[in-house]
Amino acid sequence: MLELLKKSAVEQHTAIKNKEISAVELTKASLERIKTVDEKLGAFNSLTEETALETAKKVDEKIAKGEELPILAGVPLALKDNMNLVGSKTTASSKILENFVSPYNATATQKLLDNLIPIVGKANLDEFAMGSSNENSAFKKVHNPWNLNKVPGGSSGGSAASVASCEAALALGSDTGGSIRLPASFCGIVGMKPTYGKVSRYGLIAFASSLDQIGPFARTVEDAAALLEVISGYDKHDSTSLKLPVENYTSSLSYDIKGKKIGVVKELMVEGLAPDVQKAMQSAIDTYKSLGAEVVEISLPNIKHSIGIYYILATAECSSNLARFDGVRYGHRTADASNLMELYCKSRAEGFGPEVKRRIMLGTYALSSGYYDAYYKKAQQMRRVVTDDFLKAFSSVDVLIAPTCPNTAFDLGSKTEDPLAMYLTDIATIGANLAGIPAISVPAGFDSDGMPIGLQIMSPQLTEAKLFNFAYKFEQEHDYYKQLANL
Ligand code: GLN
Repeated sequence: MLELLKKSAVEQHTAIKNKEISAVELTKASLERIKTVDEKLGAFNSLTEETALETAKKVDEKIAKGEELPILAGVPLALKDNMNLVGSKTTASSKILENFVSPYNATATQKLLDNLIPIVGKANLDEFAMGSSNENSAFKKVHNPWNLNKVPGGSSGGSAASVASCEAALALGSDTGGSIRLPASFCGIVGMKPTYGKVSRYGLIAFASSLDQIGPFARTVEDAAALLEVISGYDKHDSTSLKLPVENYTSSLSYDIKGKKIGVVKELMVEGLAPDVQKAMQSAIDTYKSLGAEVVEISLPNIKHSIGIYYILATAECSSNLARFDGVRYGHRTADASNLMELYCKSRAEGFGPEVKRRIMLGTYALSSGYYDAYYKKAQQMRRVVTDDFLKAFSSVDVLIAPTCPNTAFDLGSKTEDPLAMYLTDIATIGANLAGIPAISVPAGFDSDGMPIGLQIMSPQLTEAKLFNFAYKFEQEHDYYKQLANL
């Protein structure tokens, strides 16, 4: 059965369709795998066995009746625990939401259910998706399946680890500054952030609303493309959702890229790049050249400011978004308050962890009167400048490439005392969030310790089909994606 769990989502779906296995059997196998390995990994906050089996049963009933199946029907999926699924606990890995049970489905979740994708559990994350290592979860750490002493990356560390360890073939994550791509690169799988507005954010617990975007994790590019087809589309519940038809990404994966132009981001290829990552990037460039693409160097002169911009804007937005957790409407309420102000203060002090508090304070400061112009307004202006850098770059190349992260997965505990060092992990990923463009991380080799390296590809807004095409062509030239963590 493990052999089947190791296969791609499309292959698993085909096995169900061909009646080699029933959807219920496959879902049970996934749940069994989780029960065997997750004690070591910590990828799941909770399992949603009943919902998963109910969905799987529907798939088998359809097969029995000879009915058509949606593209990924029957394939087990892990849902990041900041997305609502009716009846499940949606905790955002925070004590403040420890006992919060979803009263409604997120739009992305609803689409999974409509497409008969069994959701096996809620995946661990950094508290409120704030972090790069998953060590900010209030409940437990996630361990990297390739080396249990290393971090899986964050904030969607549980989603990435579950797919890399074959607990599930698919997962959803959210990406505000790199939270899908970074853990995908650390865990040796594919992770993709769509154009801002492609996937509805309704029912996703908001972190920084102008940057947040839900996206797919998978072990192959084809699987990720298929999953994005399932979850994307206009939604009237999200005012930033784009009114555009759902596209078919899987049909254009193998288009020829001969003569296409690729820009290597100059600023992301030098400073602080680990030698093994540098080598992998050179080899990626060679791969693209051998496919007939032209590779040139491109400058994004202001990308160096992206972390500074992000930590003003993201914290400002989160300080406002998280104001709703007041101990009154939902979530943790202090047992001991003698007036309303005390109720607010103590509930929040008891419920939020240290990183979340740090961000709320930073954001509140940046928005406070007298500082707004100096920080928030300036950061908004600089966001535009960075976006313009991307627009200019895309006027001369089809896609941009860079490492997903300057280094591979680091040791658990090695950066927890130094928030700045942790923030710097996202130097290569934040730009795509600021510019609202799609970006993907694909496996691009291993370092000398056997830890995975990720290649990041970025393309202009709403060119997901092109992005998947470039990612697929690269993937098919290597067997990195076939190598799995030994667990
Ligand atoms: N690591 C970044 C942060 O801590 C990005 C997180 C994310 O994308 N959700 O904010």
